[in-house]
Amino acid sequence: MRLGFWLNSKRMLLLWAAIICAVLALFFYQKYRQLDRYYSILPVEGETPEYANGTIKWLVKRQHPDGYFVSNPDLFDEPSILNKESVRLTRYAVSVLDELDALDQINKDTLIQFLLKNFKSPSNAIGNLKGFSALPNSPVTLRATLDSVIILRKLEALGMIDSEAVAQLILAYQNEDGGFWDPDYPEFGKQSTLKATSNAVLSLVHLDKLNSMVVSPQSQQLINQFIADSWSSDSKLFSPFPGHPPTSSYDIFDAWVSVYYLPINQDKDGLHNKLLYLDELIESINSKFRTTDKVYSEEINSDISSLKATRLISTMMKHLDKLEVISVPDIVSFIKDYRDPKMAFTSNIYTAHSAIKTLEALASTRETDSLKLYKVLTFSAGIMAIFLLVILLTHQHRETSRRHRDLVQKAQTDRLTSLHNRYYLEMQFQRYYDSFSHMAYILIDVDHFKSINDQLGHLVGDEVLIELSELLRKNTRKTDTLARWGGEEFAILCPETEPSQAETLAEKLRCIIEKSQFNHVGHITCSFGISWTANQQTLRELYLKADKALYQSKRNGRNRVTYL
Ligand code: GH3
Ligand code: MG
Ligand code: MG
Repeated sequence: MRLGFWLNSKRMLLLWAAIICAVLALFFYQKYRQLDRYYSILPVEGETPEYANGTIKWLVKRQHPDGYFVSNPDLFDEPSILNKESVRLTRYAVSVLDELDALDQINKDTLIQFLLKNFKSPSNAIGNLKGFSALPNSPVTLRATLDSVIILRKLEALGMIDSEAVAQLILAYQNEDGGFWDPDYPEFGKQSTLKATSNAVLSLVHLDKLNSMVVSPQSQQLINQFIADSWSSDSKLFSPFPGHPPTSSYDIFDAWVSVYYLPINQDKDGLHNKLLYLDELIESINSKFRTTDKVYSEEINSDISSLKATRLISTMMKHLDKLEVISVPDIVSFIKDYRDPKMAFTSNIYTAHSAIKTLEALASTRETDSLKLYKVLTFSAGIMAIFLLVILLTHQHRETSRRHRDLVQKAQTDRLTSLHNRYYLEMQFQRYYDSFSHMAYILIDVDHFKSINDQLGHLVGDEVLIELSELLRKNTRKTDTLARWGGEEFAILCPETEPSQAETLAEKLRCIIEKSQFNHVGHITCSFGISWTANQQTLRELYLKADKALYQSKRNGRNRVTYL
């Protein structure tokens, strides 16, 4: 079928426009749903994320009566439940609860008491140095200090310890090469490592002691130098310590932390990027740590996706304003897989921490604007489709009524003269009959019409009938109904009219016709018969009486009016 067929009428166009709008509305809705499903997991300021309640409930149950958190609450009574990792696990649990605004739901006092039991001076300390150990009988370490300080800060209990002494302890672990060492990593001895350095810097940050009064600019400069020395220009990555080949993505994070928070590195455009060799670094991260899931691995050139590595890279990129270099949608769907059937993160505390921290880091990518846009577009296209459909249906309805009116009109109109026909007169009679007390009927017949047809032809006869109709129409009152009764006979139904008034009207018409000039034939005359009724007579009875009167007019020489 030709295209024109589908496009030719206004209604077809409307229909197409409505269909297109409806399809667009569906398309935008689909887009909206897709985006919404993807973004719905990213937290929004002031709203409780879907995963919050389940995760909180699950976490709160993991606080041991002694204050710290454990992986498995079924093992609360086991003597070995408290171990070297308890502080770290507790720090992660507290961070998550803090993130979810749920720290009120745990027993803070026992937790603080638990930490303070491990707060002490190292055995060989000179001066006022204090820090934390992971267990009551183990040595003070930077790692345990970092975890404890973070917990106390989140519990707003830093005032209970001597922060200055802790800062001094941390600084005591700085080596001449600028890096820090940590007794927590005995395998490295007193060797500076990125891990220990970032633990030191982060501890100072959380203690609010990373300022040039406590940490001298020279000392900070040394840290910068240590990070620079840890850069491997072959691999374009950071090594765990200078001279060692790069192995882990965690070291990248540690290098970033070590320079990012130093006061001497602030407020200088692009300094962070320079210190971190950021462009080259990003390239290496994405080529050596990105897995097929488009997330990150802990080990170099490994395809094992690591939630923790992904969190560290995401957090770092977020702070460096470089979120565009990681694949946010892939990271989000990777994290979604860690949810339990109730949408909470309950596989273990480490996972919950990494997942929730990563989502927080990516929160700014939640595109509420495009969500809103698709909502508006869906709505507009939908309304437009409905609007067009309404117009279409109205149009259709009007067209149908018009056709109906035309048909009715046709059925009530005489083809030749365009006057009403007998059918219409019958309807009018019924109407008058219901509304008026009496009416008159005037029957008009052309005199010697047959001879016009015979002498001048049928077509001239037709023309005379048309002219006569026009003449009658012009001279009939609006309240009366004029119709072609049939052949060369016309009828006028006059409601609320006395016989004498009907006679006057008929006489007036007779005169007008008599005096009028008709094409081809010149003058013609008509005979009139009048009937009148005030009681229940049918139109047919009225007609028969008028016809009788008409016959009388003919008998009496035509061109006259008779009322019997
Ligand atoms: P009178 O009424 O004066 O007695 O004579 P008449 O010649 O008019 O009488 P009759 O009723 O016998 O003739 C009417 C003629 O009108 C007959 C018919 O052919 C003609 N006629 C009827 N309808 C039409 C029409 O639509 N067009 C034309 N041209 N003639 C028609
Ligand atoms: Mg006749
Ligand atoms: Mg006649």
